[in-house]
Amino acid sequence: MTGNTSTALITGGTSGIGLATAKKLAQLGIHVLVVGRNAERGKKAVDEIRTAGGKADFISSELLGADSAREVAWKAIELGNGHVDILINNAGIYPFGPTHEMTEEQFDRVFSTNVKAPYFLVAALAPLMAERGKGAIVNLSTMVADYGAPGMSLYGASKAAINLLTKTWAAEYGPKGVRVNAVSPGPTRTEGTDAMGGLEQLAAQAPAGRPATADEIAEAIVFLTTDRASFIHGAKLAVDGGRTAV
Ligand code: NAP
Repeated sequence: MTGNTSTALITGGTSGIGLATAKKLAQLGIHVLVVGRNAERGKKAVDEIRTAGGKADFISSELLGADSAREVAWKAIELGNGHVDILINNAGIYPFGPTHEMTEEQFDRVFSTNVKAPYFLVAALAPLMAERGKGAIVNLSTMVADYGAPGMSLYGASKAAINLLTKTWAAEYGPKGVRVNAVSPGPTRTEGTDAMGGLEQLAAQAPAGRPATADEIAEAIVFLTTDRASFIHGAKLAVDGGRTAV
């Protein structure tokens, strides 16, 4: 899906993995639309991409469910001159803690941001990609959706839903030319994880023995959007330093 006329919508494209992905897609000549809540971060991201010669716009939204997802989808279609060719479902939150300490409010927020918003973005955009006969969707998962990690029940469960949805959407829209895949990162240095502790400790359990950079994850995401990945449908690419392999 490379080329001057393509448009990519990257939720959470103002920070960390999403921003690194937006920058790489913009370098390929793709018009990138980054979504976030914080307008200052949005402006900074767009300025950086434009200064480097890319085409970028910010869509301000708190993605929490169907209404916000549909609104973002329509804005993206407008900014993309009638089409969105690539969707990166990246915006996500990861509050950690034992199950008995999680509140209902946290439960609802995690599932609204991590599952409901991507669900309704795909519902709004995949049929339009299918009509055009081509599209690429990449969902951000996590290695802790693959095994029981203490303190990560809500987060892991929300991403386990994303893993199954990736396969279902590949089955639903793949026959019409829309490839749907997931990237499953290990611990990665981002603005989000910098605010938390324990990244090095978690990363030490994997063969790579260190956290990833946002660029290393973005590389895999971008690959899955391009024609180099033309026969890859419904896959979950582990970019976790080998953690789930051992
Ligand atoms: P991050 O640095 O915390 O950035 C999160 C991005 O999402 C920001 O742009 C934020 O923008 C946006 N965002 C959050 N909630 C939103 C909402 N409700 N509506 C709209 N935008 C929202 O995140 P990250 O560490 O790069 O993680 C990105 C993705 O990778 C997430 O899905 C995460 O679960 C996954 N992942 C990360 C790691 C890791 O170690 N970093 C590992 C595995 C998987 P605003 O704050 O401006 O709204």
